[in-house]
Amino acid sequence: MGRYLDMARKALNEKKDRPGLAAISQRLARGAAWLNQRAAELERVKQGPDARFTQAVKTWERLEDEFIDLGGVGCSLGDNGPCPPSSDVRCAHCKATLTTEDAYREALAAKLERVGVLLLWSDTLQDTVAFVRSEAELSCVPAGFVPYLDSELRELFPQGKPPPTPGHLRLVHEAKKLAGARVTGQGATEATVPAPPDAEGGPEAGSAPNAS
Ligand SMILES: [Zn+2]
Repeated sequence: MGRYLDMARKALNEKKDRPGLAAISQRLARGAAWLNQRAAELERVKQGPDARFTQAVKTWERLEDEFIDLGGVGCSLGDNGPCPPSSDVRCAHCKATLTTEDAYREALAAKLERVGVLLLWSDTLQDTVAFVRSEAELSCVPAGFVPYLDSELRELFPQGKPPPTPGHLRLVHEAKKLAGARVTGQGATEATVPAPPDAEGGPEAGSAPNAS
């Protein structure tokens, strides 16, 4: 389905192509890459957007208006699109077509980033799972929750690609549950067997997860 929409978009763009449209898309793609890199740098030094950044965002948005005015269709990044949900600047088209699944995933990822561990019930797996921000937080996962590291989730649900089938997810889950397997490639699992969660002491053992 997505492929046909993409083809339609391409055809429309080709039809409407005026010199400039492709060039604008390229400039927008380069601009978005620069802005995302700059945002990451600013975040690293715990700094908010500076004047140069704000100015660049304005320029980017003006350029995007130009793309639309010229009759550009679909993602304004053209062949470099669609704009990833995590991007600091996203074109009007991609903002409007953000699927609920993407939105949900984005919200979940943001929450995970904040709290470190999320305890969830999975309808597909009929089991309790824990989404874990990093290895350091694995010890906060209560017994009975199968941990999925953020890095594993990204491998399992690659952005912009179809999600794995429920059957595949169940297989991966079983492997994790029985052998402590880690997701290493796209859906592939490797039985590296990280230290199994040893049931030490009572419920007060270890640090309690602060996920609500
Ligand atoms: Zn876009």
